[in-house]
Amino acid sequence: MLLIHCPYCGPRDETEFSYGGEADIARPLEPEALSDAEWADYVFLRTNAKGRFKEQWVHTHGCGRWFTMVRDTVTHEHGETGVFGGFEPDAVG
Ligand SMILES: [Zn+2]
Repeated sequence: MLLIHCPYCGPRDETEFSYGGEADIARPLEPEALSDAEWADYVFLRTNAKGRFKEQWVHTHGCGRWFTMVRDTVTHEHGETGVFGGFEPDAVG
């Protein structure tokens, strides 16, 4: 059993979570100003990193909140988790 540390709920079984892709993909401030190629890059192209990589996950079968987690794409080892928007939840175990 692999545990993932939800920053809101604490460690839970990995089956409670869903992968959400690469973290920190910012929506363009003026999407109408982008060319079709730039829009396609934003929508479809993602980093395919080897090694430690920051991803977004959701605690689907728990609190339902999104958070970030660093995962090694080679070893599948999970690292530190974080929250969006600078909000820091109460300490959880
Ligand atoms: Zn949670």
